[in-house]
Amino acid sequence: MTDTVVVIYSGGMDSFTLLHRARARGLRVHALSFNYGQRHVRELDVARSVCSGLNIPHKVIDIRAMGDVMAGSSLTFGEDIPEGHYEEESMKSTVVPNRNMILLSLATGYAVTVSAGAVWYGAHGGDHAIYPDCRPEFVEKMDAVCRIANYEPVGIEAPFMHMSKGEILAEGLKLGLDYANSWTCYNGREKACGLCGSCVERLEAFAENGLADPLDYEAGR
Ligand SMILES: [Zn+2]
Repeated sequence: MTDTVVVIYSGGMDSFTLLHRARARGLRVHALSFNYGQRHVRELDVARSVCSGLNIPHKVIDIRAMGDVMAGSSLTFGEDIPEGHYEEESMKSTVVPNRNMILLSLATGYAVTVSAGAVWYGAHGGDHAIYPDCRPEFVEKMDAVCRIANYEPVGIEAPFMHMSKGEILAEGLKLGLDYANSWTCYNGREKACGLCGSCVERLEAFAENGLADPLDYEAGR
């Protein structure tokens, strides 16, 4: 059994917590981020700086070339980023087609390369309604296939699958994490917008924990 794990780390609050959870359990962590043509690279910059501070190996895979065949996502193309809660129909435009299957497949290849026994990613309870590739049945089947796809079995794990964003935050706070070192907003401006689905859920998670978010928000939020 290897004690090495690849953590898919976007720079956002869920994967930031996941990265630290793995470390807190004594696992050797290889962090993996994807540049899929996000409108901004701010979250990748945050990810780089956190990994360098923790002295964790960190790779960024550039998959921007996929943009040619991945139309329909407001995160990669020119559509306006929808405001409001993830559960609303409009948020479906934030879905990158087949995203997690592609990312987990690349991460599994990387896991074999660095002799990791598992890939962790930050799918959580709040994602289920809208993202098919964050559902438990998807994770179970990816896990099964990645265990047999190579001579070296690689497990796919989503440790936050049955947790809400508020519960994930509570775990991170218990670990003593400073969420000023995470970036969630879909808009890459100097301050977080407070209006996109990602900001709305983040602010709700802090409110649930009775705390103020240490990030700066644009005026009036
Ligand atoms: Zn935002």
